[in-house]
Amino acid sequence: MDGNGRTHRLELQDQTVRDWDAVVLDATPDGVVLDRSAFYPGGGGQPPDHGVLLWGGVQTRIVGASKGDEFYLIPVEGDPLPPPGTAVRGAIEDERRTALMRTHSGLHVLSGVVFRDFGALVTGGNMEPYVARMDFNLPEVPPGFKEAVEEACNSEVAEDRRIDIKVLPREEAFQIPDIIRTAQNLIPPEVADVRIVDIVGLDTQADGGTHVASTKQIGRIQVAKIENKGKGFRRLRIRVTD
Ligand SMILES: [Zn+2]
Repeated sequence: MDGNGRTHRLELQDQTVRDWDAVVLDATPDGVVLDRSAFYPGGGGQPPDHGVLLWGGVQTRIVGASKGDEFYLIPVEGDPLPPPGTAVRGAIEDERRTALMRTHSGLHVLSGVVFRDFGALVTGGNMEPYVARMDFNLPEVPPGFKEAVEEACNSEVAEDRRIDIKVLPREEAFQIPDIIRTAQNLIPPEVADVRIVDIVGLDTQADGGTHVASTKQIGRIQVAKIENKGKGFRRLRIRVTD
């Protein structure tokens, strides 16, 4: 079970989709099930999309999604629900999603740079539009670390590296050294196919999130702060700007 039930997840293949046609399969106060959805449900540190379903001259606002026996879109309490069989137009709030795509890709640039230049592995991360944090296993912070990381991140942005998404069979994915390093223990054994986000030449990760198509679209990455969170554990806070 992949948690998507009967819903085809459009954003897993095409992260540029912002509106689309769909049919309602089920609707309860817990959630609306569509045959096709581009709502990112949240996960991997990326919060869920916000948006609307438009139908019959009214709108149902959507503020999240949950995966289970079906892929439920979570409506704002009190909004009218489209009955099963209704044809709806789905739409994602573009500004929020695009900001999250830029921020998420920015975090992958950061993880690629910090591993390549300082050998430190990521232990966690989280983001909101344009601000994010990533935790690293980094016992020592060398002099000039903050400036060096920021400069290296922005030179990777300027390189305009392609960000490719592909889905590989599990065995094939786990032959990629970066995937072995970052994800082998995190992906449940029943998952047959692994979605890979590859910033070509910099960073390859198993990841379900949404990303921009190349690093220049991220914009500028600022390393805002480095916090010492205990033995060998450093938290980097970044900001993404134009
Ligand atoms: Zn990610």
